[in-house]
Amino acid sequence: MSRDLSRAAFARAKTLLPGGVNSPARAFGGVGGEPVFFRRAEGPFLFDLDGNRYLDYVLSWGPMILGHAHPEVIAAVEDAARKGTSFGAPTEAESELAELIIDAVPSVEKVRLVNSGTEAAMSAVRLARGFTGRPLIVKFAGNYHGHVDSLLVAAGSSAATLGVPNSPGVTEGAVRDTLLLRYNDPAGVEEAFQRYGSRIAGVIVEPVAGNMGCVVGRPEFLSALRGQTERHGAVLIFDEVMSGFRVAYGGAQARFGVTPDLTVLGKIVGGGLPLGVYGGRREIMDHVLPAGKVFQAGTLSGNPLATAAGIATLKILRDTDPYPALERISQRLASGLEAAAAAAGVPHHVGVCGAMLTLFFSPRPVTDWDSAAACDVKRFARYFWGLIERGVYLPCSQFEALFLSAAHTTAQIDATLAAAGEVFRDGALCE
Ligand SMILES: *Cc1c(COP(=O)(O)O)cnc(C)c1O
Repeated sequence: MSRDLSRAAFARAKTLLPGGVNSPARAFGGVGGEPVFFRRAEGPFLFDLDGNRYLDYVLSWGPMILGHAHPEVIAAVEDAARKGTSFGAPTEAESELAELIIDAVPSVEKVRLVNSGTEAAMSAVRLARGFTGRPLIVKFAGNYHGHVDSLLVAAGSSAATLGVPNSPGVTEGAVRDTLLLRYNDPAGVEEAFQRYGSRIAGVIVEPVAGNMGCVVGRPEFLSALRGQTERHGAVLIFDEVMSGFRVAYGGAQARFGVTPDLTVLGKIVGGGLPLGVYGGRREIMDHVLPAGKVFQAGTLSGNPLATAAGIATLKILRDTDPYPALERISQRLASGLEAAAAAAGVPHHVGVCGAMLTLFFSPRPVTDWDSAAACDVKRFARYFWGLIERGVYLPCSQFEALFLSAAHTTAQIDATLAAAGEVFRDGALCE
């Protein structure tokens, strides 16, 4: 498979953009080699500059749950564009999207639309602090909430520690009020609330983690979060940027029956255009300016193109209910990958929830950042390149989840399993 045009495009991009990309996950740093440059996408397929076709399991890192360039979504965006791309003034479409979200997501009574998941998480954290008048935010190692300064603390740690920043440019001051805990550890949560309870404004968590690979939040962990925040008057924030409209139409909170106070959304809710959302209990949301005093604003917030794509996407999801079918192909892929790895004698663990999944090269179950970080990333890189050479495009890191769309067919899943079987059999994975 020749990728000469991608190679040339990357060489040029590197002279113009830091590392040749506009978001680091795209640069193939986790697997070595050079990224593929794409010309177009349709349904479950990506087409690169050199004319190669790939079955896409990245789906723009989550948003494209209907597959790429869905005709109804494209038509909605075209229609909106002809009427003007931004007004900086209210539109009815914003209320229409808000209504769809409020109807779908159990905990959400009011929303604010923003431009990215990062912006939504940042705003939700500010609101939790503004609402409670308290400083501390609890986050979990291995959870990602966008590049918000106070949440860029992720380095694995077994005990509760006050955060240490994990990017240059994030000051100790910015993370001084961030408490870092272990994921899936209810005892750690109880301990932290015992010690700091009256100073904790909120807890932010991915109820299904997708940013250390797919790691499902255990029921006893999520219910401890709900119980402790309730008891101590703190705000529970579910970051459902990835799990929202993916593990169920109503997100992880609908799937698991745990109701947070605030919810952060992004990715699918924008239908492939830049859109983020934070929302929740009316009483809390009414603290946002101009109803309340917590400042948050945006020139392009509620943008007509993004809201059109979001409305079209959510309506299709609501009306066609692709979730049972997604669940079936996801389980088929998960058990097929397990069988292929087992047949090759490769230690593995599959994390799966709805239409998101990770094959971990790990001899033990992956339940938190420490167990994820112990995976064999070199083996993952060989697996990744073996599949890309066979026209299967996976996320380029052991610590990302792969995604399925309503455009993926059972036959394509089986073709992927056949390709994975070849990769496992050719021996390179067993070195
Ligand atoms: C992708 C992601 C974000 C950040 O969203 P952006 O739109 O990339 O800023 C936040 N939280 C979670 C759980 C995510 O997966």
